[in-house]
This record gives sequence, structure tokens and C-alpha cells, in this order.
Amino acid sequence: VNRSDVHYFGAGPAPLPTAVLERAAQVLLNYKDKGIGLCEISHRSPDANEILADAKHALSTLLDIPDDYEVLFLQSGGSGEFSATVYNLVAIWVEKKRAAIAGEVGDNQEEVLKRMHKAVDEELKLDYLVSGSWSLKASQEATRLVGAKHVNVALDARKSNGGKFGVIPPEDQWSLTPRASGGGPALVYYCDNETVDGVEFPAFPHALEGDDAPLVCCDMSSNFISRKVDVRKYAVIFGGAQKNIGNTGIAIVILRKSLLPPHSTPASPDLLRALNLPVGPIVLDYPTIAKNNSLYNTLPIFDVWVAGQVMSGLVNAYGAKRIGGQEEVSNDKARLIYDTLDKYSHVYRVVPDKAVRSRMNICFRVHGGDADKEKAFLAGAEKKGLLGLKGHRSVGGIRASNYNAVSMDGAKALVAYLEDYAKSS
Ligand code: PLP
Repeated sequence: VNRSDVHYFGAGPAPLPTAVLERAAQVLLNYKDKGIGLCEISHRSPDANEILADAKHALSTLLDIPDDYEVLFLQSGGSGEFSATVYNLVAIWVEKKRAAIAGEVGDNQEEVLKRMHKAVDEELKLDYLVSGSWSLKASQEATRLVGAKHVNVALDARKSNGGKFGVIPPEDQWSLTPRASGGGPALVYYCDNETVDGVEFPAFPHALEGDDAPLVCCDMSSNFISRKVDVRKYAVIFGGAQKNIGNTGIAIVILRKSLLPPHSTPASPDLLRALNLPVGPIVLDYPTIAKNNSLYNTLPIFDVWVAGQVMSGLVNAYGAKRIGGQEEVSNDKARLIYDTLDKYSHVYRVVPDKAVRSRMNICFRVHGGDADKEKAFLAGAEKKGLLGLKGHRSVGGIRASNYNAVSMDGAKALVAYLEDYAKSS
């Protein structure tokens, strides 16, 4: 079977542009005619530095990332960032609090520590908007690290939808930690696109905007570089590369520089330990990674190269429109598929609510979720070269992932199959 004979709709790892893979095969063997391949050269070599700089530049161009933001590459995967956001932002919250208390009581360390215990006990909150399986996992990791008492699930979308994900209730129903009097949560976390449940935030939540906006951490693993983003609204944006950007192996973090020294200092490990708060691994420590230009430890430069190739491909393809060009294509492909599913609603049922349908992961049921019929649907799709359509094991059903490397031809081939299947049902 040739690559050109199939269209792959898997949710991640996901397809990559064939041209990038062809070049990748070449650079693995022999990079820039040096006689050795890209997986074999030092991550500290001038070539590696150039690859890193190019990837950063392409991402910054695509998303119009302002100068006061830093781009980091880490091996953490998306899940590692569930932990990293907690470690880093809790350490910043604690140090800010310590400085404020020290400003009041002076050098009396015992008194500072006593007041810090009280402040942590009464005030430390991490807000989570749980709109699907991945934000749920992130909130569970926060609970594992700092304890349930400090985790405020400001939204659990299942509660408004009979115990299942698939909606995002109105913001006035969220219970965010109040921002009043210099307080507020250490972070507000949400997942922009829920890969398993097919739920995507249509826009940045109004409730997180304003002059005293909280530090917003956002998981964009499955819709990274698929639409315009106002980076300034976020403290941290992160995503695993393996869906829209590249291959498995790296995560990308876009971080507001004011969260790094000299603007912000994290609490010392000693203080965190004294307060029974977690001290994160050094490889997840944003200041350390930033100070070392993402080369604190061995970074898989080949993975960065692939990501850079994909991103500079988009820069070249869409010119001045930048990511707006990809957004139009993504929206068009998604619209085509959803319109067909809606047209044949006697056969297909889209799982999430219409207002929050993901453009990236299109989740639907066939004949009300009849197991045999869904199996037959998938088997018929495979015969046509339409692969990777099985829904996540936790929810079942069908999921067509519409990442950037899925072509318009791929979307049209899926639409043709959806029509044929519906007409013959
Ligand atoms: N966040 C989202 C939205 C995801 O879809 C995934 C993986 O599918 C992850 C996080 C976890 O990423 P990783 O497997 O790289 O840890």
C-alpha cells in the first residue's frame, strides 16, 4: 500500500506532510552532506542551534508571538506539561506571597514561615476548567501533586450533560476563584481542544480576560497552529508536537517572559519543602530550560527539525495570512464533514453540542452507536483507504481527526464515503 493510497484520520500520532518525511529520510542518513545523520549530531552543535532558531522563528511568525514571550522545547510530552504548569506556577505564587509577607513582617523568618503556612492553607488555589478527558487528567495530576484542597474544579462540564463530556456550560456557571484584593488563583487551566471528546473552545473565555486577568495555562496539543491565537492572553500555552506540528518526542511551550527571572523568581526548594509543596524535576523547570535555550539536557534535534519543517512549510504556504490561512482550510474541511454528518442525521449523530464542536477531532456515532454497525462502518472505510477512524477506547464511536496534514482531498474522500454509507444504509 502506498502513502498516496490512504488518508489517515488518527488522533495522534498523526499524519505528516509527505514532502517533509521524504526530506526527513534523507537527513537521517546524511545531514547537509556531512556524512552523518541528524540523530547523530550534537544538540549543542551550530547546526542544532540553527535548527532550534529556525523552528522558533517559524512558530513565532505563524502565531505572531510577541517579543515578551519565550518558546521552549521539552521532551515532556503533553502530559509532562500537566505537571510542569503546576510546579512552575505554584513556585511563583509562593514566592510572590513570601515577598509580600516579608514586606510586612521584615526579616523574622519564623514569622514569615508561620504566615506562609496560613496563606498556603487558606489561599492557594489552582483553577481547572474540566471540559473533557485531557483537562480532567490535568486536574487529576494537579490534585496528585498539591492535594485536592488546592484544586478548584471551576467547571466540570459533565455535570451539565448527564455525566458525559460534550458541552461547555455558560461562563456564569463557572466557579472561578475570585481575583479580588490581589489574590486569585495561582493559575487557571483549560484545554483548548479535547481530543477524545471532540469539544473545542470556540474562543478565548471572556471570564479569563481583563486587567487583573489570572495566569492562564492552556493545553493546545490537538489544535496547535490550526487557528489564530492571541498569545498575550495566556501565561503558558503548551502542546505535544505529535498532532499538528511534528512527530512524537517533543512538547512546545510558549511562555510569558514575566514569569521568568529576573521578573519572577520561583520559591526556593527549601521553602516549598517547608510548606509541604512539591519541588519539580529540573527538566520541567521553565527558568532552567529557558536559561539554557532548551538545551539543559539532550534535546531530540531531529524532532525539532521536523517541527520546524512543518511550520516553515505553513509560513511559506500562507504568506502574510500566516496561521489564518491554515485556519481557513481547517474550518473548510471540518465544515464539509460536519455538514455531511448533519445532512444524514438519520444515520449519524455528532456527539458534542453544536456550539463546541471541535474542528480537529470530529466525534460521531453511527446508527445510535450500534456496535456491529460501527464495526461495519469502519471496515468499509478501511477498504476505501480511510484509516484511523476508530474513536478513543474510553468513549467508543467514530473519530475523524482533521489535523493540518489531512488534505482537502482526504476530507472529500471521507465525505464521499459518509454519503455512500448513508445512502446504502
Ligand atoms: N493533551 C491533549 C489535548 C492530548 O490530546 C494529549 C494526547 O493525545 C495529551 C495532552 C497528552 O500528550 P502526551 O501523550 O504527549 O503526553
